Amino acid sequence: MADFRSDTVTQPSLAMKERMFSAALGDDVFNDDPTTLELQSVAAKLLGFEAALFAPSGTQTNLIAMMSHCQRGDEAIVGQQWHTYKWEGGGMAVLGSIQPQPLELQADGSLALSDIAAAIKPDDPHFARTRLIVIENSVGGKVLPLSYMRDVAALAKDTGLNCHIDGARLMNAAVALAAQHQLTPLQMARELCQGYDSVSLCLSKGLGCPVGSLLLGSNAFIARAKRVRKMLGGGMRQTGMLAAAGLYALEHNITRLADDHDNCRRLAEGLTALAAQLPALRGKLTALPVQTNILFTDVELQLAELLLPYLAERGIKLTGSNYQSAKGDIKRLRWVCHLNISSDDIARTLQAVTEFADQV
Ligand SMILES: *Cc1c(COP(=O)(O)O)cnc(C)c1O
Repeated sequence: MADFRSDTVTQPSLAMKERMFSAALGDDVFNDDPTTLELQSVAAKLLGFEAALFAPSGTQTNLIAMMSHCQRGDEAIVGQQWHTYKWEGGGMAVLGSIQPQPLELQADGSLALSDIAAAIKPDDPHFARTRLIVIENSVGGKVLPLSYMRDVAALAKDTGLNCHIDGARLMNAAVALAAQHQLTPLQMARELCQGYDSVSLCLSKGLGCPVGSLLLGSNAFIARAKRVRKMLGGGMRQTGMLAAAGLYALEHNITRLADDHDNCRRLAEGLTALAAQLPALRGKLTALPVQTNILFTDVELQLAELLLPYLAERGIKLTGSNYQSAKGDIKRLRWVCHLNISSDDIARTLQAVTEFADQV
């Protein structure tokens, strides 16, 4: 069984469950759940913010952030493909009355600085008031470099805007960048956040928690965020059970993300080698470059429609979406590596693809 559909499918380990089981509990809406308070203060310190807030999901921490930065009728600059714009049910518009200003992504996953600057509206009653820039890192498995993150923060500062990082997978970006900056992953994460007004961080993806996301910011921002969380129904009670998992994850599951990146790279290299060797795959399967834990492969549509059920029968699950290219109809398959995918799973998956190609 190898479930590549998402890093959200991770199961809490026994050690994580033991930490949850023995957590000291209170009522977090009364602000007296000791384990949640501890998680929030540990996370804030780790990432260099004054305060943090625990919430049920990354969708909610992003929405809380956008609603805490923006008033009704304000505008947030986002990426066309970003989670905050495309994958959150339009929450910022529906629930926040915030106008999204989506921009096309560059090939590296960034928003061009010139596009951001051009999208900032002048102070004129015709326009929504531009208030916020949202940046996603990592984005579709791609890492935005530190210099770019700094440039966006500087642009926001120069133009009087707030800036938020959708850092659902920020730790994957930090792990990928740390070595080249000679920093630890946590130091790197802190550097990536510097100059930003807020960051959301998912605990329930590669970090391996069953539930939860953190929002980080200044004391004043988190005080506003707390009211918005309550309004959205995200105020929970004995959250120490969940926060304990978060504490365990911050202590044990960050540096190990490098294993997921290694597995993902080996999967990409293995599939590339198979596509070169096996006639059934030649010219029909292309692995895109891997930077973190997410691999995309473009597979000729008819072949993909045989491959997916073949793999599913062998317990190998993944997702894909169709598109048309100059070469014809393609299914882009998404393979997400995480702490419940082992190097043996990678070997087994490559073996299954080999067997598929031999019989197709
Ligand atoms: C997963 C994800 C989120 C939050 O998702 P939830 O499932 O609501 O926790 C936010 N942003 C990005 C980029 C994500 O990948």
